[in-house]
Amino acid sequence: MVSHTTRIAVIGGGMGGLTAAIALTRIAGVQVTVFEQASKLGEVGAGVTVAPNAQRVLDKLGVLEQVKRVGAIPDGHGVYQDAMGNLVTDAAWEDSGRQYQNIGMYRPDLINVLAQEVDPESIRLDHRIASVQTLESGVRLAFENGAYEDFDAVVGADGIHSVVRKSVMQYPDPVYSGYIVYRGVVDASLLPDDWRMISQVWMGNQRHFMCYPLQNRKLFNFVAGVPSDRPLNGPWSGPAGVSELAAEFAGENWDPKLQRFISAIEKTFWWGLFDHEPLTNWSHGSITLLGDAAHTMLPHQGQGVNQAIEDSMALAIFLKAADSPADIPEAFRRYTSVRMQRTAILQHGSRRAGAMFDAQYEFADLKKRDADLRVGRDFRRSAVFDYDAQKVAEKALTRFRKVQFA
Ligand SMILES: Cc1cc2nc3c(=O)[nH]c(=O)nc-3n(C[C@H](O)[C@H](O)[C@H](O)COP(=O)(O)OP(=O)(O)OC[C@H]3O[C@@H](n4cnc5c(N)ncnc54)[C@H](O)[C@@H]3O)c2cc1C
Repeated sequence: MVSHTTRIAVIGGGMGGLTAAIALTRIAGVQVTVFEQASKLGEVGAGVTVAPNAQRVLDKLGVLEQVKRVGAIPDGHGVYQDAMGNLVTDAAWEDSGRQYQNIGMYRPDLINVLAQEVDPESIRLDHRIASVQTLESGVRLAFENGAYEDFDAVVGADGIHSVVRKSVMQYPDPVYSGYIVYRGVVDASLLPDDWRMISQVWMGNQRHFMCYPLQNRKLFNFVAGVPSDRPLNGPWSGPAGVSELAAEFAGENWDPKLQRFISAIEKTFWWGLFDHEPLTNWSHGSITLLGDAAHTMLPHQGQGVNQAIEDSMALAIFLKAADSPADIPEAFRRYTSVRMQRTAILQHGSRRAGAMFDAQYEFADLKKRDADLRVGRDFRRSAVFDYDAQKVAEKALTRFRKVQFA
């Protein structure tokens, strides 16, 4: 068995890397060191939905109660509406067993909760990975600050611009979606008293606006997707004026309730939406990938972090089953084969969901869009929310063993 003397490096102290550190320590029992390029752990001032499929994992890791304490559970299912606020359909917000409901989290709060579950001694800030060298046994990591260190294995959780990804010979081009989002949070006290404590999406004129509660309902997250070629000519994100966002949803063809919400926004920033085609491999020897480094997806199904959390559980299960550090490459191969298929489906599904929200391609036919959205609710619940990453990995492990000893 791998043990506490097995040394695993996790590159990236984002939501994926921190969850991986917790899972690998608590389930696989290995010694983890997290290397983060920034001088402190943090996230952008916006929200993220922690979905039932990830909560199932966080529950097993003993972190869910802490997440719930600082998050916001909506009053019920979310709604998809047309531009004037007429209901198109309700949205999935819980699993079939009704055990877990979507939780809206302020990103810095989620990072704090996860970081508190990781031994601070094992987090090295100001360490930007420069290269990963494969050794006869294990890997040598070199950092831009001149430090280098050897480990039994490395997990690249270093996001869309992953450096570790090059070491598994994957060089995907980022694909621009044609959309930017305006993001940020609103102080809930600035909203009308009867504002609905649920997730709401308005869709019209090839753009959409989403909002949902965060932080014990003290904040509301917003994400407004609009077509733009801005990221093609320069940076992928930056500060933005509230008036420029408001102009995108102005006029009598948009719901006055939505315009009232927008009038409460004090600050926003824009963010280009990029993904990449599914990779053809995530692992090479003692090197593997996790989270956006492995499967950047558009945000329209709210699954990027949730998949990183699922990855963390699966990786821990396969690593725990490794007999010794020499078996880690096989554990990583198994992890890759189980996780790649699911995340590739969700990468494509997220593009499709975005096309629906913004009436692109075949969804310009709004009857088709609305029909697909209605059916999508049940699919999302059963295929996405009911998924048990631990059970799937354990079942796969039994299969791998049967084949191994056949
Ligand atoms: C508008 C929007 C809304 C979204 N909403 C949701 C949602 O509701 N639910 C959901 O599940 N997902 C959502 N996502 C997706 C989610 O934000 C990402 O999938 C998630 O942040 C990925 O986490 P990660 O830890 O893999 O990568 P990241 O968050 O990118 O973290 C990578 C970390 O690695 C560090 N790093 C990078 N390079 C290096 C290096 N060379 N050396 C050392 N450290 C390095 C970075 O500083 C960072 O801390 C949304 C995304 C967007 C854009």
